[in-house]
Amino acid sequence: MTRPLQARIDLSALQHNLGVARGHAPQSRTIAVIKANGYGHGMLRVAHALDAAEGFAVLNLEDAVLLREAGFNQTILLLEGFFSADELPTLAEYCLASVIHCPEQIEMLEMAGLPVKLDVFLKLNSGMNRLGFRPEAFGAELQRLQASRAVGRITLMTHFACADEAQGIATQLACFDGLAAGLDAPRSLANSAAILRYPAAHGDWVRPGIMLYGSSPFADTNAESLDLKPVMTLTSAIIGVQELRAGNAVGYGATYRAEQSTRVGIVACGYADGYPRHAPTGTPILVNGRRCRTLGRVSMDMLCVDLTGVSDAGIGSPVTLWGKGLPVEEVASAAGTISYELLCALAPRVPIVEI
Ligand SMILES: *Cc1c(COP(=O)(O)O)cnc(C)c1O
Repeated sequence: MTRPLQARIDLSALQHNLGVARGHAPQSRTIAVIKANGYGHGMLRVAHALDAAEGFAVLNLEDAVLLREAGFNQTILLLEGFFSADELPTLAEYCLASVIHCPEQIEMLEMAGLPVKLDVFLKLNSGMNRLGFRPEAFGAELQRLQASRAVGRITLMTHFACADEAQGIATQLACFDGLAAGLDAPRSLANSAAILRYPAAHGDWVRPGIMLYGSSPFADTNAESLDLKPVMTLTSAIIGVQELRAGNAVGYGATYRAEQSTRVGIVACGYADGYPRHAPTGTPILVNGRRCRTLGRVSMDMLCVDLTGVSDAGIGSPVTLWGKGLPVEEVASAAGTISYELLCALAPRVPIVEI
């Protein structure tokens, strides 16, 4: 018998969710964001399923090259651009598009003497203050790129800090629109939250990430109500059962102590699989399809679940850690984090099954 933990990846759900993104932004082309190993789902697996997207966005040159070599002819965008000049010949060879967010990158590009022009996404820092040119510098940098023989198509880009929050995007959008007004260049602004909430920010290229994987970017709106279907379902089984007596504790640190006799199931999944160690007692989990709660600390390879109310459960009973029937957002929120982090953290040791 093999360890029962598996991540099931639903490829048709990926395609469905791409359709949802397209439905919200029918005039825009789509750059599917598949950084962080496709948010933990497997970059190439996701790219194959989402071949209908007009582009892909990744972080590393190695990933971009892998995509090209796998035969993807779409736009491939490096979300942080190149990090040093020695990457530039590879960008040219593989026809990769680069974000340009600092003057050093423009200098490197001008000095590189590339045989072909690179398509670039010029990034405006419209208020997030992470990457990008400040509004007062943007026009001059744009002119410099337009004058450069190293540069092909220029897309204007920004990224929102609060598209998923009540604060919204108004200030950042006004900043971007003010600078882009009158410029004849394609635009790219919207992450999942902006695709779902702000049609005014759709522009020419949308950049959905989390929604493709079936998770809601909003704390106050669940995925189902957005018609998003979970792609990853993490499943396992009960591999042990303990009958606690009143006063008995379970797990490291003895952080959970039973007040009365309690049946506890031991589940084959721990933090070395990517389950969050910070998930406290009470984190939701499904046993035999029924909602239960975790007990005590998550250990490296196991965690514990309260079997009160699932008297038919025993060794071999199926467990869902997250996914179909239990939105990953709920587990994330119980553990004080967001679904992105749980999905991206799926450990390489977890076997993946495509469904
Ligand atoms: C990760 C990322 C996205 C996708 O964000 P989601 O919230 O997952 O939709 C879009 N644009 C940029 C620049 C990103 O880094």
